[in-house]
Amino acid sequence: MLVDSHCHLDFPDFAAELDDVLLRARDAGVGLMLSIGTHASKAAGVLAIAERHPQVFATVGVHPHHVAEPAEEGVTVETLCALAAHPRVAGIGESGLDYFYDFAPRPAQEAAFRLHIAAARELGIPLVIHSRDADADMLRILRDEMAAGTFSALMHCFSSGRELAEGALELGLYLSASGVVTFKRNEDLRAIFRDAPLERLLVETDSPYLAPVPKRGKRNEPAYVAYTAAVLAEVKGISPEALARATTQNFLRLFSRIPASAVGGGGAA
Ligand SMILES: [Zn+2]
Repeated sequence: MLVDSHCHLDFPDFAAELDDVLLRARDAGVGLMLSIGTHASKAAGVLAIAERHPQVFATVGVHPHHVAEPAEEGVTVETLCALAAHPRVAGIGESGLDYFYDFAPRPAQEAAFRLHIAAARELGIPLVIHSRDADADMLRILRDEMAAGTFSALMHCFSSGRELAEGALELGLYLSASGVVTFKRNEDLRAIFRDAPLERLLVETDSPYLAPVPKRGKRNEPAYVAYTAAVLAEVKGISPEALARATTQNFLRLFSRIPASAVGGGGAA
């Protein structure tokens, strides 16, 4: 059984056929999905999906793209903690820094990121981190915040440089591989995953974005995490079964609010 540790099932891309998407995921051996929040103001939508489907859990947070939007600007640690009290919430995020798009001013991104870290630390649940073209600032903030009090976290869709990978691993963070590791020219990224400890690795789709080869360019969906897992297994020199077992164990260790019995939607019809 595989876990898709990062998807966006509440996005309009899936609205018309979510049941079919979830059936295809099941048929591909994806026993659990974590649907990631991007807006505090839209948390109810993600939570409703997680309430309806026993194999779906959720996170709550504000994506760095949206932190300066009027509906999200007022989010506090208390807002996040209150949303995370919902029984289907397994983590905080996604939060972090995106200097590629720079949709929100960088100081606002940093301030929001620190709030999310504070919430994750206070609740003792993991933070899902988004980081793009911000390696130096990301590492600076992670080191600074970890020194102020430990928290657990996952670098989602890891596609940054080796220094950030090694720095994050040193701080105890996990790295998640997305379809980006299947893209032909990303030899350096595959080498980073090859050298990282297996017990710190997860897999994800980031669907509807970033479909892995051979679906590249199409709308992504949780079933396709199997393609990314197959490439990661090859990179690690282990069987797809061993890779699935390890990444699922890692996921459950990190997202400890989720019981192992939830894999495969266990316990419910
Ligand atoms: Zn995402």
